[in-house]
Amino acid sequence: MTEEKTIFKRIIDKEIPAKIVYEDDLCLAFHDVSPQAPVHVLIIPKTTELRSLDDVAPKDEALIGHIFVVIQRLARELGIAENGYRVVSNCGVNACQTVPHLHFHLIGGRGFSWPPG
Ligand code: 5GP
Repeated sequence: MTEEKTIFKRIIDKEIPAKIVYEDDLCLAFHDVSPQAPVHVLIIPKTTELRSLDDVAPKDEALIGHIFVVIQRLARELGIAENGYRVVSNCGVNACQTVPHLHFHLIGGRGFSWPPG
């Protein structure tokens, strides 16, 4: 049985448009359609094997490390590094994950509170 493509896989395959800010062989970054801060970018691996952080295994260490290097570079390029930013990966129902394709939210450009809601 073939699983239906997620919205993020459709963005990777350029079937639906997104405001892409970075792309390489391993990952893609694009502006969130419903931004929660002045800067709100999603960084996703291109593989569809990882539905959430809970699927990450030792074989994925290089990929995840690469994604975090990309996140740091994007934070600088998007002008949010100096005042600080937040990186979030919602994992599962309790964390309100809505798209079953591993993704990291990079949000910045305003202050955030803690603990999160
Ligand atoms: P989650 O709630 O799973 O952690 O985050 C999913 C994110 O994907 C949400 O912030 C939502 O706004 C974003 N999103 C959902 N559909 C689309 C889309 O079609 N395009 C873009 N750019 N973002 C989307």
